[in-house]
Amino acid sequence: MLLALSGCLSAPADLDSGAPPPAGGPRSAVDDGGTAGPQPSDAELLPDLWSDVPIVIGAGPSGLAVAMDLGEALVLEASDVIGGRARWAGGFLYMVGTEEQAAIGTIDTPELAAADWEALTGAAPTSATRTFLAATDGIRDRLVGMGLVLRLDRPEPVTGHLRLHAPTTLGVGLVETLAANLPEGVEVRLSTPVHGLVFVDGRAAGVRTDAGWIGADTVIVASGGFVDRADLVELHTGWGPGTWRAGDAHGADGAAVDWASASGLGTAHLDAVGAYRDVLGIAGADGQAMGRTSSFAFPWVWVDGSGTRFVDESATWSVLLSGLVDSRSNVWAVTTHESIAAAVSEADRPLLVEGEAWRCADDYAALAEEIGVDSTALPETMASVAELRTSRAADPLGRSFSTFPSTDGAPCAFRPGSIAAKNFGGLAVDDDGRVLDAAGAVVPGLWAVGEAAGMGVPGLGGAWGFDGSLSAVLWSGWRTAAGIHAER
Ligand SMILES: Cc1cc2nc3c(=O)[nH]c(=O)nc-3n(C[C@H](O)[C@H](O)[C@H](O)COP(=O)(O)OP(=O)(O)OC[C@H]3O[C@@H](n4cnc5c(N)ncnc54)[C@H](O)[C@@H]3O)c2cc1C
Repeated sequence: MLLALSGCLSAPADLDSGAPPPAGGPRSAVDDGGTAGPQPSDAELLPDLWSDVPIVIGAGPSGLAVAMDLGEALVLEASDVIGGRARWAGGFLYMVGTEEQAAIGTIDTPELAAADWEALTGAAPTSATRTFLAATDGIRDRLVGMGLVLRLDRPEPVTGHLRLHAPTTLGVGLVETLAANLPEGVEVRLSTPVHGLVFVDGRAAGVRTDAGWIGADTVIVASGGFVDRADLVELHTGWGPGTWRAGDAHGADGAAVDWASASGLGTAHLDAVGAYRDVLGIAGADGQAMGRTSSFAFPWVWVDGSGTRFVDESATWSVLLSGLVDSRSNVWAVTTHESIAAAVSEADRPLLVEGEAWRCADDYAALAEEIGVDSTALPETMASVAELRTSRAADPLGRSFSTFPSTDGAPCAFRPGSIAAKNFGGLAVDDDGRVLDAAGAVVPGLWAVGEAAGMGVPGLGGAWGFDGSLSAVLWSGWRTAAGIHAER
């Protein structure tokens, strides 16, 4: 049955009247990219509906950005609100060479940021990374031109540079600014999940929805990441059950990765999951599960196998800390039974994981033996922590004295766990956002932006990702719209 909806959709009866046929012409072979939703019978050769304008899957910031610059688009959004995960975000945007930096006398350039990149993300900048870095001041100018007010926020924990800008109205303000700047030719349909991609003769030919196959000659996947999918996160990162959890996933349902598997699309860098570090699965010394610590109480110090600290542990808001932990061996959070018990009793969230138990000992030298770190260095490290806490002297690693835990009490240690925050891998795309198949060839008519494409291009964020990747999400949307215009 052919259905006609309002707006830019029409029944493909137009075909009979000489209107352009759906991409690939009448269906001769359909690769069914979906695992759910209506499945047209083989006898059906035409889409149930036809969109004259590109279809964008997802109304997060990347979907809104690409739709904005396309000028005309049909945006299909599964949830009942626009903005995707950015609606709940602080809205930090990584940008360099901006007026906000200049106003406080900071000289910053894409080249300086590129020079820091490997230390930040664990991998050298790619050509896409450099293109993104060079574009960030333009992103800033565009957002400010749309009415967004930005302020410089906290410095990066690794370099100390101030490159994170935040809207004074937070992520929701960013979303509303994007939405307010959508041209009239963009229609956003809420509560309209896409169940799969349709291909005809090797090119994208539309999407499957509850209303059937909607045909279009251009489809843009902007459906976000997969941190809410334990199967995908554990498969690609190697993290075991109970050692991690998703953080505020809000619809990061992994649809793009599923469609890649179903349709032979390429994926890349799926192991690059940006994660915060916390302590999970705290089991009491007596074997009783006690709960977990509050993310931002950080009542511990981290040491590696050398028994020394290596980072300001209070920067748990940053995915960069995760990289620092991963690049060291035998990292432990060291604290006291009393400190952690106090934090657990104040924690506002329930026990999430029962992972590795505490290791406790009578003193720090014995604890070091127990956890396999340098037994001379660990007592010295904890003595210096006590000194920093009480003397209020400056910590060489930058942590405020007031946040250090007391070292008095029964020494204990446990492993930091991971909180999966966002993906820096996804559908394989070229530098303009064209989706590649598993063999690396361009799939005509199919594009991907934002987290679905690893923040724009998988590998852009190195091994660990970076904070403020919303600027890359926007960049990828605007860049891809330019690529689509160039092809049409
Ligand atoms: C609490 C929180 C705080 C954050 N803080 C920051 C921050 O300060 N800075 C930063 O850089 N990043 C932050 N992030 C991450 C950031 O929000 C995301 O990386 C960003 O929103 C990704 O944009 P996107 O458009 O690619 O995907 P999303 O924002 O995830 O949007 C994807 C959209 O697609 C929809 N969708 C999914 N599947 C389908 C389907 N099958 N059919 C139709 N629609 C579908 C989803 O409902 C969603 O609306 C935060 C995230 C959260 C949750």
